[in-house]
Amino acid sequence: MEFSTFIGPPTVVLAVWVCFLAGWPWEGVLVLGAYIGFNLVWSLLEARRLPITRGSHPRAIANFVFMFGIFASLAHTDGAWIMALPTMFGSQGSPTMRQARYVRILALLGIALGSFTAGIPWTQVATLLVGLGLVGTVSERLYQPLLQAFMVSRERQAALDQSNAELERALEARKTFLATMSHEIRTPMNGVLGMAQLLDGTELDEEQRRMLAVLRTSGQGLLAILNDILDISKLEAGRMAVDEQPTDVATMARQVTELLRHGSLSRDVMLEVVDEGVPSSILTDPLRLRQVLVNLIGNACKFTAEGSIIVRLRWADDTLCVAVEDTGIGIPEATCERLFQPFEQADAGTTRRYGGSGLGLAISHRLIDLMGGRISVESTVGEGSIFAFSLPAPETDEISMVSELSISLDHDASRVLLVDDNRTNLMVASAMLQRLGCEIVALDGGQQALDHLQRDRDFDLVLLDCQMPEVDGFTTCERLRERGWTGPVLALTAGVTDEERTRCLESGMDDVLHKPTSIEALRRALATWTEGRRDRSRLA
Ligand code: ADP
Repeated sequence: MEFSTFIGPPTVVLAVWVCFLAGWPWEGVLVLGAYIGFNLVWSLLEARRLPITRGSHPRAIANFVFMFGIFASLAHTDGAWIMALPTMFGSQGSPTMRQARYVRILALLGIALGSFTAGIPWTQVATLLVGLGLVGTVSERLYQPLLQAFMVSRERQAALDQSNAELERALEARKTFLATMSHEIRTPMNGVLGMAQLLDGTELDEEQRRMLAVLRTSGQGLLAILNDILDISKLEAGRMAVDEQPTDVATMARQVTELLRHGSLSRDVMLEVVDEGVPSSILTDPLRLRQVLVNLIGNACKFTAEGSIIVRLRWADDTLCVAVEDTGIGIPEATCERLFQPFEQADAGTTRRYGGSGLGLAISHRLIDLMGGRISVESTVGEGSIFAFSLPAPETDEISMVSELSISLDHDASRVLLVDDNRTNLMVASAMLQRLGCEIVALDGGQQALDHLQRDRDFDLVLLDCQMPEVDGFTTCERLRERGWTGPVLALTAGVTDEERTRCLESGMDDVLHKPTSIEALRRALATWTEGRRDRSRLA
């Protein structure tokens, strides 16, 4: 017996109709879906089971076409035609509703036609159409607000989707703008700072040395602002990730104080680290922690002319507590809270007097938040300030990666292949590597490097710029690896985004050095990547 004689299409359409009226649209779609599924299977089974009897195949096909028609019109209008049936003959409604009306009329004609062809008695079909019309007319007034709300919410959703897409495009554009700007500023800064550092190693009189010091600090200040802007936008876009590793915080704090002692610290200030029992290895993000320490201790050094700065380290209940206490100028109470907002400074005069972007504390605050901790400040004008933060940082058995930096280059001179399309950068890196006793082959393009390596493979290290015309650094490295080069390849790039780093590593590079580079950074890279590899890469 045919399934549709138990539950005919009119019954199902009415059931779906009632579901929609009752405000259960998904249940309605479910009923219809289930019916269509059953009916299709049933029609197919019936067509296979029965020998060709008169009308059995056409009926099965008609059933299929009929159901397919309903399903297609439902899918096409996103269910709107069922929702909008009561207003079918009305003239009101939004453009979407008016558009949907044509589909609805076609769908009803489809129902009528399909039902007749499927052999459903005309009385049933007529009852359905009249029933729909009656229910529609009666419920129109009650149903109109619901329908209107449905349509409005659909239109609102569309508008919302569009503005979300626009926002995403704007954010993407900001990200690209920042990355490009950073790259474009870093490239000439590499020339300025690199040359200044190289000049520092030559014979200069007192006056020239003073002028050079101004040149270097100004350049470094500009770079610090650039880095701060990149960091804060990364933090605000939620793109900064925490990477926890075993860390020796006391050693790290001592390294940071040593670094800053030779910077802006006045001679009359005592700077010391007091370790009140932090385990030698705790789990935290060393890079981010160091960034916060540099900022807080750096500020203390900047704003303290005499007295002392104490970096106090405590650890209890798997929590690290750090307090940077200074006897500096202090901050008015009303200003303290605002200081953790971007671009806030205690008073505008401080920028002129001490420099800085007003981003350091905002970045520190967000970094500490990201690591699950809290930061606070207590200060009295004229007496000093205490910036303190606490972080969850459990003890670990693994050995910390932070160690005293003692890198020397007393092995054989390394032979380095240096590739950069920018002549200034090529000059800077060549001169720095020469200072470190390296022998250099400097080339200004990826293709030149690939050609050269076919004749001469005797290198301990390859340093590649990334953005180069024609064959860029990524492609150069990929081809090098394809040709069996196993020696270390490092990027020396002005691109500092995570995407750039990932691209470098994916193309087969071992590590990434950033521009502006320094003799120290190159010394460290040589020590890490060429020591003990000399023989291996020469054989490659
Ligand atoms: P900046 O780059 O200007 O130092 P920060 O966000 O690090 O930016 O600091 C914001 C402001 O907070 C500073 O300009 C200064 O007015 C005040 N400040 C921060 N640390 C101290 C401190 N230890 N003593 C006095 N004032 C401070």
